[in-house]
Amino acid sequence: MTSNASAISIRHLCKSYGKTEVLHGIDLEITRGATTCLIGPSGSGKSTLLRCIAFLEEATSGTILVNAQPLGFEETPDGKRIRLPAHSIRKVRQGIGMVFQQFNLWPHMTALGNVTEALVTVKGLPRAEAEGRGMAQLRRVGLEARAKHYPSELSGGQQQRVAIARALALEPKILLFDEPTASLDPELTGEVLNVMRDLGGEGMTMVIVTHEIGFAATVGDRIVFLDHGRVLLNGAPTDLFGGSRHPRLTQFLETYLDRGAAMLLKPS
Ligand code: ADP
Ligand code: MG
Repeated sequence: MTSNASAISIRHLCKSYGKTEVLHGIDLEITRGATTCLIGPSGSGKSTLLRCIAFLEEATSGTILVNAQPLGFEETPDGKRIRLPAHSIRKVRQGIGMVFQQFNLWPHMTALGNVTEALVTVKGLPRAEAEGRGMAQLRRVGLEARAKHYPSELSGGQQQRVAIARALALEPKILLFDEPTASLDPELTGEVLNVMRDLGGEGMTMVIVTHEIGFAATVGDRIVFLDHGRVLLNGAPTDLFGGSRHPRLTQFLETYLDRGAAMLLKPS
């Protein structure tokens, strides 16, 4: 079912690497303005799905619509799947930003340099305008005072916030996060999760792959549980985590020792 509220509509998406299929027909609607948390065991296909949505990977079959525009491929009325021209792919991709586990900042550029680089080289903005926009985004993630610092002078949490500011500077309609706090020391995850929570509050459409189950349960509008390349569960946090929990989800949660997960597992 497609509705106007869908920022992303995924239909029968399959992805193989060589002969091995890792996504087996994903059907998923991502609601506009919602925070969708994608959880699941390691190897279940979370990154692959996110990378297909960012068009960093090309799905083997199936379709993805981004704000009702086909991404990369289109199905003709007679069921043929055709690749769309590069300019169309670029246009749809422009609306999507991605934040990775490894922040991927340029070490030789300041925080501001990292945030403004693509604005100048890709978008062709004059440097002064790019810097104005870059500073606004650094302010948004609470790092205005660190604009002139190099990545090596910033904590992991600050570096990830710079990476988020960089993604925001390109004014995406949708932001994808692939385990954004997984390589951070535990005491630094909070500042990054707070930035994401604030973005959600501002109405940004986000898909977040995370093992921070407590965060997913409290900030996620929707939880999607991926298992062996399939969407096993998809619902509101209270539906998935509360009451009669799916045994596979319980088994998954039991492998996590984070406080949020422990809290959810406590018998009520
Ligand atoms: P997750 O992010 O949930 O841990 P991934 O999407 O990274 O899972 O991986 C899903 C499956 O696809 C795994 O079995 C993984 O080994 C395989 N896979 C991922 N990327 C590649 C690749 N580039 N080449 C071959 N196999 C891959
Ligand atoms: Mg992954």
